[in-house]
Amino acid sequence: MDLIKKMVRKNILAMTAYASARSEFTGVAEVFLDANENPFDNGLNRYPDPLQKKLKEKIAIEKQVNPDQIFLGNGSDEAIDLLIRIFCEPGKDEIITLPPTYGMYKVSAALSDVKIVTVPLTVDFKIDTNKVLERVDERSKILFICSPNNPTGNDIPLAQITRLLDHFPGMLVVDEAYIDFSEQDSCTKLLEKYPRLIVLQTFSKAWGLAGIRLGMAFAHPEIIQLLNKVKPPYNINQLTQTAALNALNNVTEKTVNVQSVLEQRAMLKKALNDLNFVKKVYPSDANFLLVQMEEPRAVYNFLLKNNIIARDRSTVTGCAGCLRFTVGTAAENERLITVLKNFKTDSPI
Ligand SMILES: *Cc1c(COP(=O)(O)O)cnc(C)c1O
Repeated sequence: MDLIKKMVRKNILAMTAYASARSEFTGVAEVFLDANENPFDNGLNRYPDPLQKKLKEKIAIEKQVNPDQIFLGNGSDEAIDLLIRIFCEPGKDEIITLPPTYGMYKVSAALSDVKIVTVPLTVDFKIDTNKVLERVDERSKILFICSPNNPTGNDIPLAQITRLLDHFPGMLVVDEAYIDFSEQDSCTKLLEKYPRLIVLQTFSKAWGLAGIRLGMAFAHPEIIQLLNKVKPPYNINQLTQTAALNALNNVTEKTVNVQSVLEQRAMLKKALNDLNFVKKVYPSDANFLLVQMEEPRAVYNFLLKNNIIARDRSTVTGCAGCLRFTVGTAAENERLITVLKNFKTDSPI
């Protein structure tokens, strides 16, 4: 598709992928003498499937997409890095990010010597779509939207996303790491209509599998082929593929956990609002709360002394005075509130 091809770096279009032993072979075999592996079966002596076929078939059903619309990465962070390397010419091209937002877009761009153009979110953490479109030029290759957004917690309205899909000429990434905690539909529904859309999701949050490092990118098959071409051949190890398959065979566990987090989020929000030094608990469609308060640093240190770690976002533009709290178990949240009730502030309320 020309629409996609003209956005891709020339060297990426021209290169051929590494052909690993297992990716060259198709069909049924019983004796594997092709990959210099150890022949003694210990469950992990074979290289994993480089294209994770079984896993993608399961994910395709769960996410209602085709297997050829799925890329799997060593965390979504790998997909972010590879997308920047596929579409952005170092020293020339740029990405657009919408701060306050997830820090990895900036880090991956910097690593690739790709310029970062920032268009801050509005005071209520929505996108200033006009301003984004004003900043676009022929070097703007990728626009990163995070929805629900980290660290603010809110959904970006679908109408804003579709407006940008209609008018932004480059690739548009919607990072949906927290989508399972939101009532808003996933943008995967828009993939058929918008071939320049890439949706990122992850096993790190709702699925409770941050330790296995597994991220998903959903996109047009041509974009998936490009990601497969540039990825390390065996980027998803066997332990990870097995753990993810097990999780997909037990979706109920995820559903139950998400439900609990949502109940706890409501409880925590109410309890935080009752504290006299809390100024504002921002609306959240994710598994965390952004909370504006008097003396955030003092509160942070006080929590630390009580062996509780929050995330200090108070120096982040747009998040002045804010700490970010991940929703924990009922017992953890209760402990947080109990400790916070003992925090004394001299500041006027
Ligand atoms: C946590 C998070 C991710 C997940 O990254 P992984 O590499 O898949 O663990 C992605 N995007 C955002 C915005 C996040 O907050």
